[in-house]
Amino acid sequence: MSESLLELKGLSLQIGGTRLLDQVSLSLDAGECCALVGESGSGKSLTGLSLCGLWPASAHLQAEHWQFSGRNMQGLSERQWRDQRGTGIGMIFQNPMSALNPIKTIGEQISEGLRLRLGYSRRQARQESIAWLERLAVPDAAQRYRQYPHEFSGGMLQRVVIAAAVALRPKLLIADEPTTALDVSVQAETLLCLDQLRRDLGMGLLFITHDLSVVAQIADRVAVMYAGQIVESASVTQIYQAPQHPYTQCLYRALPAPDGSGLVPIAGTAPDLSQPLQGCRFEARCPAAMAKCRQTPPMFELAEGRCSRCWLSEGGRVHA
Ligand code: SF4
Repeated sequence: MSESLLELKGLSLQIGGTRLLDQVSLSLDAGECCALVGESGSGKSLTGLSLCGLWPASAHLQAEHWQFSGRNMQGLSERQWRDQRGTGIGMIFQNPMSALNPIKTIGEQISEGLRLRLGYSRRQARQESIAWLERLAVPDAAQRYRQYPHEFSGGMLQRVVIAAAVALRPKLLIADEPTTALDVSVQAETLLCLDQLRRDLGMGLLFITHDLSVVAQIADRVAVMYAGQIVESASVTQIYQAPQHPYTQCLYRALPAPDGSGLVPIAGTAPDLSQPLQGCRFEARCPAAMAKCRQTPPMFELAEGRCSRCWLSEGGRVHA
């Protein structure tokens, strides 16, 4: 049986009168990859940051249940969160340059984490850092170890950032749009590399992306976010074969098909979360909207692990 790594239920985050995350629930087993998909502004990155204890200071956050690696995560102090980050939960972002210090060599930056967080000696940290660079297929790793971030291409720099993150052996890696800034050919290599690492290391991977087309290459499960809520969650096969939620279906229609068709943009815009919201948040853009959609749909569970927040799925059990 798989080991449960993350159990998050009913996470809400509010800043002033604006509820940016509403009843977000996610679960992840060790070694599993869940893709969190949605348009920009849907709350994906904020969910990722919250899972690392990095929500804005002005925010009020609460959850019904939040466990990571058997530990209750509610009420952790800043110091306890600092202990979790890196070794418990690692995070990589879209722009690798922003994660690195431009005036330090990349070797210093990888080995620093190993010395400060895992207690390695300078020599051990250097050897281990070079070994990680080699594992991530950075050519001439020992020489590259002494170079500065500006001497690397974008794809190679993202490998360096991944090496620095996985060298600390996190149980969970949160990757927020890690391939979006890269060339298409480099994107595929980076995805393969992340996929291989999570399999080899048995690490959970939360892969945040706006691009549904890359999800099948890496994820076991998918959670689709819209306007601060998860609106559909399912296995990657279920999502590809029969997306249930109209928003997920619209995301598919917006993808270019191999024959050049597709690319049907989703009309309209997401609701303003600072205004009072009534009914389904997707109603104004939904091609299947009906009178009942003015009532707020709960999350319906259609089968184990398969949920949709839409009245069209009303036959399912209401997910607690
Ligand atoms: Fe569309 Fe209604 Fe379903 Fe919302 S509840 S997604 S408006 S059909």
